[in-house]
Amino acid sequence: MSEKINIAVIGAGPGGYAAAFLAADLGMNVTLIDKDKNPGGVCLYRGCIPSKALLHVAKLLDETEEAKNWGIEFGKPKIDLDKLRDWKNKVVEKLTGGVGSVAKFRKVNFVQGTATFKNSTTLVVEKSGGKEELKFDKIVIATGSRIATIPSLNIGSKRLLNSTSALDLPAIPKSLLVIGGGYIGLELGSVYQALGSKVSVVEMLDGLLPGADRDLVSHLSKRLKEKFESIMLNSKVVEMKEVKDGIQVKIQSAEGGNEGKTTEQTYDYVLMSIGRRPDTSGLGLENTKVKVNGRGWINVNNQMQTDDSDIYAIGDIVGEPMLAHKASHEGRVAVEVIAGHKSAFEPMAIPAVVFTDPEIAWAGLTENQAKEKKIDYEVAKFPWAASGRAVTLDRNDGVTKILVDPSSQRILGIGICGPGAGELIAEGVLAIEMGANLIDLKLTIHPHPTLSETLMEAAEVFFGQSTHVYRPKKN
Ligand code: FAD
Repeated sequence: MSEKINIAVIGAGPGGYAAAFLAADLGMNVTLIDKDKNPGGVCLYRGCIPSKALLHVAKLLDETEEAKNWGIEFGKPKIDLDKLRDWKNKVVEKLTGGVGSVAKFRKVNFVQGTATFKNSTTLVVEKSGGKEELKFDKIVIATGSRIATIPSLNIGSKRLLNSTSALDLPAIPKSLLVIGGGYIGLELGSVYQALGSKVSVVEMLDGLLPGADRDLVSHLSKRLKEKFESIMLNSKVVEMKEVKDGIQVKIQSAEGGNEGKTTEQTYDYVLMSIGRRPDTSGLGLENTKVKVNGRGWINVNNQMQTDDSDIYAIGDIVGEPMLAHKASHEGRVAVEVIAGHKSAFEPMAIPAVVFTDPEIAWAGLTENQAKEKKIDYEVAKFPWAASGRAVTLDRNDGVTKILVDPSSQRILGIGICGPGAGELIAEGVLAIEMGANLIDLKLTIHPHPTLSETLMEAAEVFFGQSTHVYRPKKN
């Protein structure tokens, strides 16, 4: 029998632990290193999981409020912040502890510590008990990303939150300013709004969720305008200072000529959420042949191999989209390649979900990208106002939109806005991966009454044969 491959994975987020577990399943000797007590990474400890636990609570609060339209009135909710925080922490502990146990079952050697490259195949791991030098055949870097900040606005105040401290629910601020209209800011803003804060958002660009399809975003923007105190677009925070009981913020908007218009407002708390950056500092990459590009991401080929043949890199550290499921998939590809399989990271579509209410989800080509790249496309669209299921939920503020290749009618991209869009998009991803044509969606019997029918009905609209929308096909 050939000798076992000795592999190390640095970083135990959804990329790193997926890679480590597959490596163990494929018979390798695996060491998984992370600074945290258990595997989980940003996703489980301070990202996807805690934010979605809190968004579940936000949704419940919103629905109990809306129930008055349906003849059911609840009293004002009493929020026990300590208990809510405990529950969220328990969700995190359960999952990270669970992943830790799965690592043990697989005989993955999990080391809590910080790893630095001494050379291409040697790591120095700093643990609580001291430093240890370990040698490997192959190393996978999965060290993820860190919170981006604006140094001039780092005022060192407890009232200035980032995504991690916001998830710890320090208080329910009377007023909260969210800097950045990206998905993390809008998700966390929605949580605080549901808990009772007056939430304002300031975004430098001319729309929320830059990069997402405007047809989808328009529904979300409309609802958030009703729920939030204000949404300031084309505006940026230029100065902040801590004052008694709050943070005084100077906001400059593009209105009012070249200088812009500046307003001043005091908020109880401010959440800075302007994105995430790859973090390779302190990894000792200078002791290897690994190269980093101008944006700080590690260069890899489609087999996740860096410029150093013994080192692979996956997840947020190698580039957009910085999403957990992309990291896991890349992790598995890297390990398969190391195991000698013919494998490459070549997805047809990587889904993205914004877990606001309504949710926004998309996969494959977006209309903006099609325009930018001058790709011919046609659009099939179904408004949720015509969906029986959406009406039973009292939520017709949604749309299902499909981009189609005009000559082959192959599905190029799918975008969905509405409650549950994050679950529905999986069908779209499968359709794109399998090279489905729009007719396949039309001919697939979907269960009634469900929101999934909107995918089939969008296809029906395209062919001028929709049961619920009268729109004959123009020829
Ligand atoms: P990470 O999860 O970032 O893990 C990297 C790990 O490496 C960390 O545990 C870190 O401690 C460790 N590490 C770093 N350097 C070293 C070192 N030198 N030695 C040892 N260990 C080291 N994505 C989604 O897909 N869906 C969502 O709903 C979603 N929601 C999010 C919400 C929030 C608030 C945030 C912040 C992020 C969210 N994300 C979401 C993004 C998602 O968390 C990341 O894309 C994902 O965690 C990236 O996985 P990764 O494996 O690349 O690395």
